[in-house]
Amino acid sequence: MSGNRVRLQAIRDVEAYVPPSASFINTEAPGQIFGENVFNKVVMQKRLPKSVYKSVIATIEHGAKLDPLVADAVASAMKDWALEKGATHYAHVFYPLTGLTAEKHDSFLEPVSDGSALAEFAGKTLTQGEPDASSFPNGGLRNTFEARGYTAWDPTSPAYVLENPNGNTLCIPTVFVSMTGEALDHKTPLLRSQQAMGEHAERILKLFGHTDPEHVVSYCGPEQEYFLVDRHFFLARPDLLNAGRTLFGAKPPKGQEFDDHYFGAIPERVLGFMMDTERELFKLGIPAKTRHNEVAPGQFEIAPMFEKANLAADHQQLLMTTFKTIAKKHGMECLFHEKPFAGVNGSGKHVNFSLGNSEVGSVFVPGDTPHENAQFLVFCAAVIRAVHLYAGLLRASVASATNDHRLGANEAPPAIISIFLGDQLQDVFGQIANGAATSSKGKGTMIIGVDTLPILPTDPGDRNRTSPFAFTGNRFEFRAPGSMQSVAGPMTTINTIMADSLDYIAGILEKAVADGEDFDKAVQQLLTDIITEHGAVVFNGDGYADAWPIEAEKRGLANLKTTLDALPELITEPAMELFEKYKVFNHREMHSRYEIGLEQYALTIGVEARLTLEVGATSILPAAVRYQTELAANVAALKAAGVEGDPDALAAVSGPLAELKAGLGSLKSALADEVGHSALAEAEHARDALLPAMLAVRAAADKLEDIVADDLWPLPTYQEMLFML
Ligand code: ADP
Ligand code: MG
Repeated sequence: MSGNRVRLQAIRDVEAYVPPSASFINTEAPGQIFGENVFNKVVMQKRLPKSVYKSVIATIEHGAKLDPLVADAVASAMKDWALEKGATHYAHVFYPLTGLTAEKHDSFLEPVSDGSALAEFAGKTLTQGEPDASSFPNGGLRNTFEARGYTAWDPTSPAYVLENPNGNTLCIPTVFVSMTGEALDHKTPLLRSQQAMGEHAERILKLFGHTDPEHVVSYCGPEQEYFLVDRHFFLARPDLLNAGRTLFGAKPPKGQEFDDHYFGAIPERVLGFMMDTERELFKLGIPAKTRHNEVAPGQFEIAPMFEKANLAADHQQLLMTTFKTIAKKHGMECLFHEKPFAGVNGSGKHVNFSLGNSEVGSVFVPGDTPHENAQFLVFCAAVIRAVHLYAGLLRASVASATNDHRLGANEAPPAIISIFLGDQLQDVFGQIANGAATSSKGKGTMIIGVDTLPILPTDPGDRNRTSPFAFTGNRFEFRAPGSMQSVAGPMTTINTIMADSLDYIAGILEKAVADGEDFDKAVQQLLTDIITEHGAVVFNGDGYADAWPIEAEKRGLANLKTTLDALPELITEPAMELFEKYKVFNHREMHSRYEIGLEQYALTIGVEARLTLEVGATSILPAAVRYQTELAANVAALKAAGVEGDPDALAAVSGPLAELKAGLGSLKSALADEVGHSALAEAEHARDALLPAMLAVRAAADKLEDIVADDLWPLPTYQEMLFML
């Protein structure tokens, strides 16, 4: 099938689609199945000798080094458990810098000398793997002669059994490093940054009287937005299939302007999908919680409960894979692209984060006593300083070709990184700032350690959806990450810049204590200094307003619009010093991340440009030519019959058709340009030559979509894809 027939058949198929017969109706209560397929603490406690169990828990909770004998015992128990669950294979799962999840499967069976096979799984097989991983991005960290990468078990993220109709697999979360120990993945730096942040946060807690504080970790609750489209349409759109977004498509007459989708009733078919996914997520121990419609038609959101950042990051990746698989079962495709439909709301992945431990809870919750409040304000001040000093790194942590379509597009936070504190906290910091000028002002000025904060509601009503970094009562929400990306990258940056701020603050306060100064006064002074120096990053207003970029510039805040503006932030001297100081990345690793960022950017746009050319030349152009021919024949026939035809209609097609041809010509020649061999040259060419050429083709094609007879149009329209679910 070709041309318009594909689209028309897709429409018929969608209309005739019968959803799977209530496969999602499940009889088990969530509590019954939750964690069923996870090798979690409960399972370990049951199956491991007491001493082994204790030793593993010490590793999981306090990062103690793992004893190889313990690894053998754990491996053996894990294998038995997995075999009972029907696993035939095991896989080291890792997160390479493609942003995807990678796994290498091995059979449990190992041949023995008599020619039979035995189920084997030793400690060393659990703790280390050696995938032939030479084709994963490494940004110059590996030459082909040392192309091997190693995977190593991350005991802090539990193993699980992944079910599949063709056999189950025991999945072991791992880090992925080069032979020289340099990070090739998202997990390694996250674990390193977590450690650095925890160490300095604990110093602060000690200052506030927690003599032996529990390990401080960062928690992350990611909100995932996504689109669902019927798979018949998806398969009829080569652009969606290959690039994850539509490279063509006129805005529908009815879009999202009625806001009637947001939190509306969930379509039955989608509800079936949601129930099915939640069931699978529960089995994997992923605490899926809220679900609702999002702003755009066909757009939805899921927010699992927050967990320790490392676990949340792994779960988030698993969630995306699960969604993709289950959507197919329901005849749909799940789109995680940040901007699948131009002109329609895009998708983000809001990273809610807090720091804390089971003893103090979230450090971003104001307390009941002045002392607790002082501690709360110190942690908030650490965030303000971190975000102000390292806004560029935060921006770089969410930079990608796909997220560029969203950031700054007046529906997602702008590319300018600022903090929203909410009226009350803003007011508190305002008073603290005043305190610096006239400390004797008394009335209206807060004296830290004396005054109690006004009661701050944990869920303040004054949400600001236009802010990239917002205080939301008990946590901060980083709203700029893209829907497709791993949360590990942004969390690594947040942990590292927080480590720096907490280290700085702890240094000052520890010195004050050592010098015998009054602690409350020292805290007061510190808060005043920080808000005076870094208050420019606090912005409570409308981030979409035209006045904001101008105001932001006056405040000295960067506006890094595109990925290519943001990525160089990774290789500035201060950035490299920062990451090296906290042992998160060395200079080589930073350079490799920068290079990979450029490569991925150029690759993404390169694929899109070739797709635009192909679809434009082989689907859209022929459809428009056919319509032009029909109209020309009509004009000629009418003329022969002595009737006045409609030459204007013909001209209306011919104009944009000529534009389309010209656009395709320019795109073709841009694709043939000689480009220097560096990643930067390729990326710049993608931004400066390919993107504009693609846009010109699209503009002409979208005009044609509104003109060409509907029965000739080859691609499913926005209308069809967004409203037929
Ligand atoms: P909203 O739509 O109001 O932003 P959601 O319920 O959609 O809220 O999502 C909020 C996310 O924030 C959830 O993943 C939730 O678990 C998470 N969250 C709540 N409290 C914390 C916390 N202290 N630290 C980190 N994440 C949190
Ligand atoms: Mg939300």
